[in-house]
Amino acid sequence: MKPPPFEYHDPDSLEEALELLTRYGEEAKLLAGGQSLMPLLNFRLSRPAALVDLNRIASLAYVREVNGRLSLGAMTRQRAIEFSPLVRERLPLLAEATTLVGHLPIRTRGTIGGSLAHADPAAEYPAIATALDAELVVRGPRGERVLRPEEFFVSYLTTALAPEEILVEVRLPAAPPGSGWAFEEFSRRHGDFAIVGIAVQLVADGENCRVARLAAAGVGPTPIRLRAAEEILEREGLVEQSIEAAAARAAELVEPDSDIHASADYRRHLTRVLTRRAIRRAAKRSQEAR
Ligand SMILES: Cc1cc2nc3c(=O)[nH]c(=O)nc-3n(C[C@H](O)[C@H](O)[C@H](O)COP(=O)(O)OP(=O)(O)OC[C@H]3O[C@@H](n4cnc5c(N)ncnc54)[C@H](O)[C@@H]3O)c2cc1C
Repeated sequence: MKPPPFEYHDPDSLEEALELLTRYGEEAKLLAGGQSLMPLLNFRLSRPAALVDLNRIASLAYVREVNGRLSLGAMTRQRAIEFSPLVRERLPLLAEATTLVGHLPIRTRGTIGGSLAHADPAAEYPAIATALDAELVVRGPRGERVLRPEEFFVSYLTTALAPEEILVEVRLPAAPPGSGWAFEEFSRRHGDFAIVGIAVQLVADGENCRVARLAAAGVGPTPIRLRAAEEILEREGLVEQSIEAAAARAAELVEPDSDIHASADYRRHLTRVLTRRAIRRAAKRSQEAR
């Protein structure tokens, strides 16, 4: 299939891109890595009058540490994140999860901003943003606003971005010293979207759990923060009984649908199994880090 005709613009500054979005409004689509947008165009599920290509805006691609947070420009390629020494050292959960995003050619083009803005609830980055309470920095004609994941992700493939806005940066807290982490997912084949994915980052002190951050992907219209499961771990520690209780609670918190890949019941079952597995792996890493 070929896409329907569209005007093509490749601005070399953010200001120019914002002007184009203001000019075209809902008729424009931003092009980042194209790994989700191009299939939608080719199947004619999206028919924008104009494409605004962000690939010449070099200032949107970076990974920096600022005041204990990693700031990633929206156009940072997934492959650059996978191999960033800063990400590996300061936020290994993000590096580990990136290896699960599609296949190598997809990660070479795909961007973190494109993945977040596309808002597929089965994707890894939205789940990490949700678990770690990311700040999503958005620029529009009237300036900048910073959204939390619960505000940003509205529903399946839907965000709070207005048509004339661009996601420019995501800020994630660096992992506290002594952190353990794990991204566990089940998919039909390596590189496929997860049927269920679980992101965990925690700080253990022996059996004590000082901080627990958990979110689930693929089990509802948006990624789901598993706060009640976090509370069990923080209250009752990292013993077998509380890990089991947190995993069971996680399965109650999700809102999966049935589809051709898996029934809602199977997704709940996977949530329990993968949460248990991810907590155990994260706890072991945290204990080894001390
Ligand atoms: C075979 C295959 C397997 C895949 N497997 C996975 C997987 O396992 N896990 C996973 O997470 N992803 C997977 N993906 C998707 C991949 O990660 C995409 O790269 C990602 O979803 C979109 O990123 P992109 O940079 O390619 O964005 P694009 O496709 O260019 O854009 C996606 C959407 O976001 C909008 N957009 C892009 N950038 C911005 C911005 N800065 N501000 C506002 N809106 C913006 C676009 O207008 C478009 O609507 C897969 C893709 C393919 C083709």
